[in-house]
Amino acid sequence: MNVLVLNSGSSTLKFQLFTTDLSRIAQHNDERLCRGQMERIGGETAITIQAREGQRQTMTAPLPDISASLEHLVRWITSEAAEIAEIRSTADIHAVGHRVVHGGELFPESTLITDEVFKGIEDCIDLAPLHNPGNIQGILAARQVFGPQVPQVAVFDTSFHQSMLEHAYLYAIPYDLYQRHHIRRYGFHGTSHRFVAERYSILRGLTKERTNVITLHLGNGCSADAIRGGRSVDTSMGMTPLEGLVMGTRSGDIDPSLVNLIATKESLSTHEVETLLNNQSGLLGISGLTNDMRVLLEKLKEGDDDRARLAIEIFCYRAKKYVGAFLACMGGADAIIFTGGIGENSPEIRARICDGLQWAGLKIDHRRNNQKIGTEGQISTNDSTLHGFVIPTDEELLIARDTVRCIQGQLHTSQSERLSAVQQ
Ligand code: ADP
Repeated sequence: MNVLVLNSGSSTLKFQLFTTDLSRIAQHNDERLCRGQMERIGGETAITIQAREGQRQTMTAPLPDISASLEHLVRWITSEAAEIAEIRSTADIHAVGHRVVHGGELFPESTLITDEVFKGIEDCIDLAPLHNPGNIQGILAARQVFGPQVPQVAVFDTSFHQSMLEHAYLYAIPYDLYQRHHIRRYGFHGTSHRFVAERYSILRGLTKERTNVITLHLGNGCSADAIRGGRSVDTSMGMTPLEGLVMGTRSGDIDPSLVNLIATKESLSTHEVETLLNNQSGLLGISGLTNDMRVLLEKLKEGDDDRARLAIEIFCYRAKKYVGAFLACMGGADAIIFTGGIGENSPEIRARICDGLQWAGLKIDHRRNNQKIGTEGQISTNDSTLHGFVIPTDEELLIARDTVRCIQGQLHTSQSERLSAVQQ
């Protein structure tokens, strides 16, 4: 089955195309046929496409909206990529999987997009006004380009965290705010946390029930997840992705009184302060230089930039603090798993976060740690009782796999419905 995975924003469209099915999933031999992205949709759109492991191609085209962008992509797939992917028409794309940021409390798992589900995703716009509208555009565009006969599946960033219990997801604010406005912790990056936790179970030969790990997704956005028995029991991001760890441009945890204080001192609206906390804070805000960890690490090496050093120190300190808190909440864990651009590629940051966790049983093997750059494997010594692992995330692959699973589930339901109808 050829599954197109879409991550659609207001002016961007990221995509990957897979060949996969239930038996390929079981054998872990899904095939990635192409991947790429379109940026600045609405103007002269920049397009990057890479077929299999081939050369990355870049081009531009004037694409007014997401539908036009998707049509453009499908033309490319069915013409230029046809030789590689053996996809000659839209009929050769059998399903579309969408990354959807917010599923609120409505969607505890991935689901086939019916009219009712579509309405539910619209109802969640309130919770993610910056993201869900772009995702909805992607769903509408796919419907238009592929027609209603091609199944579409929504995979939510929030679903994995729906297993959290009330004590973990409720804020200590008046309870009726939760009842009236659904104000609570939802958590994000769920697809990534779930992917690396499942991958860890496979690597270690563990059942889901015996998978107890803390996952650290450290990219531009950063979050930590406490996973016990294969289920998310707590996570660092909250009602929005602003809470928790220090990120590229987000502050993570702050004293809530700062919002009003900064607004007063700087003559800003509270909305402007929220933008400042989202876009001008974190590594960028502290360093005054960049949100790019690579640049900060270079500065650290050169040794002449105190604020770059400080940004890195605060980033690692906060991550360590969450690890400690989650260890306490979970009653210990088997491993800390690093993923995301920074987690996968920076031995220096991993070592700084793990340094001082010997008391918890984690001893970093520095040779192993230094060797793991974008690759999977253990970074702790064999005699550690709390292990360290690097596992590159692959959210798109999980979306493709969930798409297949949902469609198969649907197939079974309709088949059994049909059968029972026949039997009556
Ligand atoms: P996003 O959250 O946007 O998907 P990524 O997961 O790609 O982002 O992570 C981006 C971050 O990863 C940036 O801060 C970048 O500097 C960092 N990064 C990428 N490669 C390295 C590296 N080799 N060493 C340190 N940081 C890296």
